[in-house]
Amino acid sequence: KNTIEMIEDMIQLDSPIADLKGFGPKSAEKFTKLDLYTVGDLLLYFPFRYEDFKSKSIFELMDGEKAVITGTVVTPANVQYYGFKRNRLSFKIKQGEAVIAISFFNQPYLVDKIEMGAEVAIFGKWDQKKSAVTGMKVLAQVEDDMQPVYHVAQGVSQAQLIKAIRAAFDSGALNLLEESLPQVLMDKYRLMGRQEAVRAMHFPKDLAEYKQALRRTKFEELFYFQMNLQVLKAENKSETNGLAIAYDEVKIKAKIAELPFPLTEAQQRSLSEILADMKSGAHMNRLLQGDVGSGKTVIASLAMYGAYTAGLQSALMVPTEILAEQHYQSLQGLFPELEVVLLTSGMKAADKKVALSKIESGEAQMIVGTHSLIQDAVTYHRLGLVITDEQHRFGVNQRRIFREKGDNPDVLMMTATPIPRTLAITAFGEMDVSIIDQMPAGRKPIITRWVKHEQLDTVLTWIKGELEKDAQVYFISPLIEESEALDLKNAVALHQELTDFFGDLATVALMHGRMKNDEKDQIMQDFKERKSQILVSTTVIEVGVNVPNATVMIIMDADRFGLSQLHQLRGRVGRGHKQSYCVLVANPKNDTGKKRMQAMCETTDGFVLAEEDLKMRGSGEIFGTRQSGIPEFQVADIVEDYNILEEARRVASQIVSDPNWRENPDWQVLGAHLRSQGEFD
Ligand code: ADP
Ligand code: MG
Repeated sequence: KNTIEMIEDMIQLDSPIADLKGFGPKSAEKFTKLDLYTVGDLLLYFPFRYEDFKSKSIFELMDGEKAVITGTVVTPANVQYYGFKRNRLSFKIKQGEAVIAISFFNQPYLVDKIEMGAEVAIFGKWDQKKSAVTGMKVLAQVEDDMQPVYHVAQGVSQAQLIKAIRAAFDSGALNLLEESLPQVLMDKYRLMGRQEAVRAMHFPKDLAEYKQALRRTKFEELFYFQMNLQVLKAENKSETNGLAIAYDEVKIKAKIAELPFPLTEAQQRSLSEILADMKSGAHMNRLLQGDVGSGKTVIASLAMYGAYTAGLQSALMVPTEILAEQHYQSLQGLFPELEVVLLTSGMKAADKKVALSKIESGEAQMIVGTHSLIQDAVTYHRLGLVITDEQHRFGVNQRRIFREKGDNPDVLMMTATPIPRTLAITAFGEMDVSIIDQMPAGRKPIITRWVKHEQLDTVLTWIKGELEKDAQVYFISPLIEESEALDLKNAVALHQELTDFFGDLATVALMHGRMKNDEKDQIMQDFKERKSQILVSTTVIEVGVNVPNATVMIIMDADRFGLSQLHQLRGRVGRGHKQSYCVLVANPKNDTGKKRMQAMCETTDGFVLAEEDLKMRGSGEIFGTRQSGIPEFQVADIVEDYNILEEARRVASQIVSDPNWRENPDWQVLGAHLRSQGEFD
């Protein structure tokens, strides 16, 4: 072969896996399941943990720990068969003076590897009480080693993946991997080079080296994430094609004066921030955050009014029909002189047609609706402001469609989910955030109590007293994870019990996820009109639904819910002037459950609870990561690696704050690695 041919044969980072020695198109096909197509993909597919194959003394082990245990075989191996195809191989080993019973299930062929008097190394699970090990593997020799463990998929085994990754390393392609971090930053934070780090991520020499590799890889991941956000933010800010909304300040002030209450300081501050964004020619991309009942809706309504005074349409999009209806009524109440139009998918065709034509002609000055608002049939007339409520339920894509339906309207997102600072930085780094962190005056904090199931009778008796005082009560029925059918069964059973218990004293209504939207609407409406006094519901009870007369919230099996969800549920009460109560009925089985109950009793501050929740659970569970637009990281964890995230954010924003940063030779290397679009979905 001549030199040119040899160079052409060389494996590149973007060579298909099929080009690796020992692999062909057929075996390469399997890896596509893991989104692995090229040699470079393999190099950058990091293990999610390591198995520590350093052998341990039984005295170092904790009950249930998986480890390598070595010893001398002191009894012959014996296979016992029972049932169909099931069997157990057992023998004993001696480690020092200790005798350990070893069992392997359904691996009878291992019998050949066990010889009396031989030294063996068994990888398995330690059972302290029985001084026994359930074996998983017999190791060829005592390896003083860390073995990577990768996420795999059906049809791709650990062994196959490791073989492919080894082949990728053997091909020499690693040498082609370019450094992606600026030298200045590597020096500053004493970070390992990229090639060294990638190798050590897969096959570390020891724990210390692995930790260094991990630190570098996490930094790289979070830093690039932050760079993308900051670049996007800078572009948004400088966008001159945004709308400068020339609202009439005098009219807005007059509207505020008409409100039956003064705005809180936090509301005033948020409103000024929003109005300033609207006035500026830059594009508004703001999140309005505040606990349930903190008065976000009023502020959003005033912003919509501002758009109206500038001759522009505004639209408010909410996740459910009940909420759309509720907001529609409240906007009509606030602005009786305006044409407010409702648009939902549940509307009659004829009504919908009328609404659509009003929107198109511009007769509609404010629009409220569900997802229907982003459907093709809707044509807006000078749409200047878009507000979404409970934005985390909308995908990033949907937000974008909405944005594109107008002349690049300003966008405001409202959320009642208190988002801890940690997460806010991550998820909303490209957005500006206004926080209403203050409740309107005169609100009585909800009193929260935690009781055990055995005390439920006492609670029910107490509820009788509250009902006599005209109170209304929510019961949230137990949640069975992943089984809607069981949830329903529980709700129905609870409904029956309560109906029997309260008899003539109360009408007990039932609401659950299997019901159609208009059925749910009707039940909520009846509850609001006090046709029922007790409402049993699965968690379908919607965020934001307002029944000020409901003052008691009972949550069954409360330990099954996360703190943020409990807080949301509790927020259904405490909306009027009367004292409200929340009772958590739970016999938690573990510490986390107990801690949650205690935290709920100690504070009503959603932000404090959200921080706690994040610590107890990790971020992914709080938000459906995929749909929330919060990216998933390969190695970093936004809770655990918060410090790195913070530092990455600081550096990235410092770099981008120089408008000519791209010309700075220090940052040359960044350009190539930044994604051009900055979209995260
Ligand atoms: P959120 O949307 O944050 O849940 P809302 O805007 O619906 O809160 O407000 C909850 C209730 O509090 C509404 O009945 C609203 O009229 C009232 N409210 C809002 N702001 C104030 C305030 N500054 N003072 C007194 N009541 C207020
Ligand atoms: Mg603007």
